[in-house]
Amino acid sequence: MIDVCDIHIMKPLLAEHGFHFSKAKGQNFLISRWVPERIAEDAGVDETAGVLEIGPGIGPLTQQLCLRAKKVCAVELDGRLKPILDLTVGEFDNLEIIWDDVLKQDVAALVKEKFAGLRPMACANLPYYITSPILSALLEAGCFESVTVMVQKEVAQRIAAKPGTADYSAFTVFCQYYAVPELLFDVPAGCFLPQPKVTSAVITLKTRQEKPWVILDEATFFRVVKASFAMRRKTLQNGLASGFPELGKSGAGEIIESCGLPATVRGETLSIAQFADIANAISRGKSNPDRF
Ligand code: SAM
Repeated sequence: MIDVCDIHIMKPLLAEHGFHFSKAKGQNFLISRWVPERIAEDAGVDETAGVLEIGPGIGPLTQQLCLRAKKVCAVELDGRLKPILDLTVGEFDNLEIIWDDVLKQDVAALVKEKFAGLRPMACANLPYYITSPILSALLEAGCFESVTVMVQKEVAQRIAAKPGTADYSAFTVFCQYYAVPELLFDVPAGCFLPQPKVTSAVITLKTRQEKPWVILDEATFFRVVKASFAMRRKTLQNGLASGFPELGKSGAGEIIESCGLPATVRGETLSIAQFADIANAISRGKSNPDRF
């Protein structure tokens, strides 16, 4: 197996194929072998797993996944990488590469078709310019046991943030609604070629099989979350009144009170259970319009 993380092998290989890194495609390739090894290991990839990889690049993580998983399906946008991947991962018969944009895939259908009978997982060193849309698509697909990804360290911190902290955001709530995050390890910029300007981190999201909240209407829940973070320094009452003009300020106040929260509470301090309470109170009010 070609050690694609060895820059004395990697650089001539890229030069031989006239390959130039594309910043626009988020191409920062791993040059430290411990990183892909640890991602595959910590993700718990084994012969019972079917792994969807996003952006194999020249294959450092792909190799480690193929060595452990029953099946790997990798989606890569940049067709220039084909002759290189033929050399670096062509020997694996448990690998299928889809040459396309991952954001154009029906992820749930793909997983169903490719990984029948296997534990579906997603693993990737993500192209950072589309971290949020990719993570959203993977979590919303609702078909993975876990999603283990390398992202910018600050994004990882945001995903794993606790209520009331500066990192807690609408994206935190979105991710934690679908999954339980765990920060795994940091990856310094020197582990990549070219070096990114930021430190990276690997995070795993274990998908919730059963959600510990009852949410009457998901759309209202996410609307509440959006409204609560839209005006971070304002009270929840102001946020709700602006995100739900139909409530008005007094209706928003009644909702907050009915959930046992103080009138001056700020949205960014609420747990998911509390966002759910607020959303459910609004949903109930909609089905009983005389209430507010
Ligand atoms: N996995 C390799 C590694 O760790 O060295 C490469 C990771 S690099 C950060 C991101 C990879 O995602 C690149 O190979 C890039 O071409 C690919 N990529 C970028 N946008 C993509 C998209 N929309 N769909 C699929 N792959 C994409």
